[in-house]
Amino acid sequence: MRTAVFSTKSYDRHYLEPAAVRSGHELVFFEPRLTPATAVLARDFPAICSFVNDALTADVLASLAAGGTRFVALRCAGFNQVDLEAAAKHAMRVARVPAYSPYAVAEHTVGMMLALNRKYHKAYNRVREGNFAIDGLLGFDMHGRTAGVIGTGKIGAIVAQLLAAFGCQVLLYDVHENAECQGIGRYVPLDELIATAEIITLHCPLMPATRYLVNRESIARMQRGVMLINTSRGGLVDAPAAIEGLKSGQIGYLGLDVYEEEADLFFEDHSDRVIQDDVLSRLLTFPNVLVTSHQAFFTETALTQIAEVTMGNLTAMEQGAELQNEVRAGGRK
Ligand code: NAD
Repeated sequence: MRTAVFSTKSYDRHYLEPAAVRSGHELVFFEPRLTPATAVLARDFPAICSFVNDALTADVLASLAAGGTRFVALRCAGFNQVDLEAAAKHAMRVARVPAYSPYAVAEHTVGMMLALNRKYHKAYNRVREGNFAIDGLLGFDMHGRTAGVIGTGKIGAIVAQLLAAFGCQVLLYDVHENAECQGIGRYVPLDELIATAEIITLHCPLMPATRYLVNRESIARMQRGVMLINTSRGGLVDAPAAIEGLKSGQIGYLGLDVYEEEADLFFEDHSDRVIQDDVLSRLLTFPNVLVTSHQAFFTETALTQIAEVTMGNLTAMEQGAELQNEVRAGGRK
């Protein structure tokens, strides 16, 4: 099926093209993000393929529908960026890639914890400049610490396993308990996790119930000097409240792979421009903050799986088949 691919980078082409050839789809790659202005590029394409920061708002979907698009293949797991009610109104089918190497995201999450704790990013620069002093690089043993995992689905469950392997006491919170976490950690109420954990890591989806889960009030209830990691979705954290927490010392370490206002910044080189986002700029000044640019998913395994599943989704939608990976208004499937 002819498919307009938005937000294309060289690595997307590298993995999507061979998968498309194998499954008989014709992909046309566009570098711009999908916006109300660029949606016209998809005119006469029955399908589009989009990524995390391509906002499929009501106006974008209306424009796509007017151009003849009927299928949306998200090459990501999250679908908070899609107005599913609007998609249903235009009878558009939307499919996602629900699981592509949850290990990729889980391993990056633990990597951020270690980097913040043992200050690898600083050590790397120091040693390269001939500075072999270790003062200022003092960390703590992960072993014996209390770590809280919020959202124990595919990614959160693996993070919990990895933390248990370090010898952490693992506290878990989810609206649905995951049997795979049995014996790894203990499910507790959210309030208890927030008040007790010395490391808190977020793995729940962004939805109205979880927006700003980390806010001024919840930060105040955390352990002083807490380590907070978000590799899920930016909107889970109220970033200005996190800045206050960092300034007061209430937050001791902050690792962000996602940021609420990332859409205009992440995945692009802005090194020759003045960054206009004062909140992100402030975050980047703290010595105990590590920001990565939504790269937790970015492994060879994950990109291979994303390409294969996306092509499978296009095939199923083209054939009008039932689709396990379809997302609909009012819930998954
Ligand atoms: P998943 O659906 O397997 O798990 C999500 C879990 O969150 C589920 O167990 C669900 O019950 C739980 N949940 C739902 N509402 C909750 C609430 N109010 N409080 C606590 N838990 C709640 O998803 P996953 O594959 O593990 O992905 C988790 C998150 O990671 C997603 O939001 C996704 O957007 C994000 N993600 C980020 C990257 C990245 O590169 N940074 C890559 C993939 C996924």
